[in-house]
Order: sequence, then C-alpha cells, then structure tokens
Amino acid sequence: MKILITGGAGFVCSHLADKLYEKGHSLILLDNLLTGNVKNIEHLLSNDNVDFMEHDVQNHIEISDDVDFIFHFASAASPIAYQENPVNTLKAGSIGTINTLGLAKVKKADYLLASTSEIYGDPEVSPQSEDYWGNVNPNGERSMYDEAKRFAEAATATYSRTYDLNTKVVRIFNTYGPRMQLNDGRVVTNFIVQALKNEDITIYGDGSQTRSFSFVDDTVNGIIALMESNQNDVFNIGNPNEITVNELASTIVDLTNSNSKLINKDLPQDDPKQRRPDITKAKKLLNWEPVVKLEDGLTQTIDWVNSQL
Ligand code: UDP
Repeated sequence: MKILITGGAGFVCSHLADKLYEKGHSLILLDNLLTGNVKNIEHLLSNDNVDFMEHDVQNHIEISDDVDFIFHFASAASPIAYQENPVNTLKAGSIGTINTLGLAKVKKADYLLASTSEIYGDPEVSPQSEDYWGNVNPNGERSMYDEAKRFAEAATATYSRTYDLNTKVVRIFNTYGPRMQLNDGRVVTNFIVQALKNEDITIYGDGSQTRSFSFVDDTVNGIIALMESNQNDVFNIGNPNEITVNELASTIVDLTNSNSKLINKDLPQDDPKQRRPDITKAKKLLNWEPVVKLEDGLTQTIDWVNSQL
C-alpha cells in the first residue's frame, strides 16, 4: 500500500513507519517538524519507497500519487509541547483533521485517526472503556489538545457516515520508549534524565495520581492490528498496568542506581488523577494485548536516554 503518515517524524510515528516499511509498504512521512525530528526517520529516508514531506496539516495537502491509507497523527502531544504551541495544536486537531479527511475522500483512502486518552479528561470511572464519554474542562489549560482531539473524533465519525469512508480511531494512552523528546516534560523522560544526572526527581503534587505506561512497540503493534483489521471503530490502545507517579519514580531510581532524592512540586491545573485503559475490546476484536513489562521497557528507554545525554 501507499501510506501517508502525518506527524511522520514524531516519536510514535517513527516506530510505526519502521514496522510498516518492514511490511513492504511505501511511505510518505509528512511533518512540520514543530515537535517531530528528522533524526527519528533518517535511517528510512535513503529507501526509494520512503519520502519525507515538510508540511503543516493546517494547510491544504497536495499529493499527486495515489494514497491507499492515511494515518493522521500530527500534533504536539505532551502537555508542555501543546501548551507552548496552543494554536498550532488546536489547528492540527481541527483543521488538520478536516484536511486529512478531505484527502482520504478524494483519494478513496482508508483513514486512521490518532486520538488520545486525554479525551476522557479527568475520568470519573476507572478503568476507562471506549463507551465512557469523558470529563473534560472545555476551557482549561489542556483544552487546546483535549477538545481538538474530541473534535477530530467527531469529524472522523461525520466524514465516515457522510462519505462512506472506512475510518478507525485509536485512543492512545501514555506511551514511552526510545526517541521520546528529552525536553518535552513527559514524566518518564523527566524522571530518567533526572535519575541519570543524580538530580532531584520532580514529583508534581503528592505523586498519588496514576498513569498506565505502554512501551512504544506494544502501542505500535496495537495500531497496526487495528489498521489490518476490518474494524472501523474506536479502540483504546494502552497498557492496563496502572501505577502511581511515586511508584514510577522509585522504579526509575532503582533501575538507574541513582542517588536522586524525590521532591514535590505544584500539581499543574487539570492534571488527571487517574488513567487506566480498559482494553477488553482490543483484546477481543484485534487479538492484541501489550506484552512488554514496565521494567523491561524502562531499561531499554534508560539505555537510549543514556546514549543521548
Ligand atoms: N509529572 C511529574 N513530574 C514530572 C512530569 C510529570 O510528577 O516531572 C506527572 C504529571 O503531573 C502527571 C504525570 O506525571 O500527573 C504524567 O505526566 P505527563 O506529562 O507525562 O503526561 P500526561 O499523562 O499528564 O499527559
């Protein structure tokens, strides 16, 4: 297949591109390089059937070739990155989704939208299954991302119904691994960098908030399982192993043999108290579940961060 990936130079998409390339697909990797980095995909670009296109999805996308499948992943994705680029984030999720859906319509391509666990906001139920509608603050400090992604889901459903497109939505939960940006404020990279430098580990709030961390290989295998399935529907992809931020900090300190101390800082506004995917649907209909243990995934990530410092 000829596949377009927006956000193609980003952390998750660079791994997605590696696996799709291995499967023999031709790729167009489109990215505005706001938070993506060509270094993530450099190793692929010497191949004849992999092209890079520097472009922002908020502008009309012109592609002369046929396209069989579109992944729309372009967006800043960490709270710090989307809060530093709020309008671009809002437009990537809204105008960018309309532009990529329009392209899917013209090219008669199948479509997969990267949505997020953030569409559940600060959830009142746990674990979150796909039929939970969420608890999002529409004008809070995360809303440029959360609400743009909620709009993106609505746009995808609307185009699918109106133009009879095959569309899929993946709600990606916290994912970590090699090629994450080291300076975008994510908890896993912050803690690993701090631990490796024996600096204080910055726990926001009392550290009792929970997240569920999925190693990038597991996340990408879930996304490909959805792509290859005949399901045109919404799926949570993430790891249901829920831990507190305090537990994550101690695990990273242990794995790095660090002398770092744990310190507490203010909790950011609208920071969700808990987050854990219900992946029953993906297990049953995509025959997928995560297999990488947190300690193993963190060890690989620590090695990679070490090589970057
Ligand atoms: N966090 C923290 N210390 C940090 C960075 C993040 O305690 O140095 C917390 C943050 O407040 C949140 C969790 O870790 O509760 C996950 O944050 P991240 O930015 O990685 O992603 P989120 O799941 O909030 O989008």
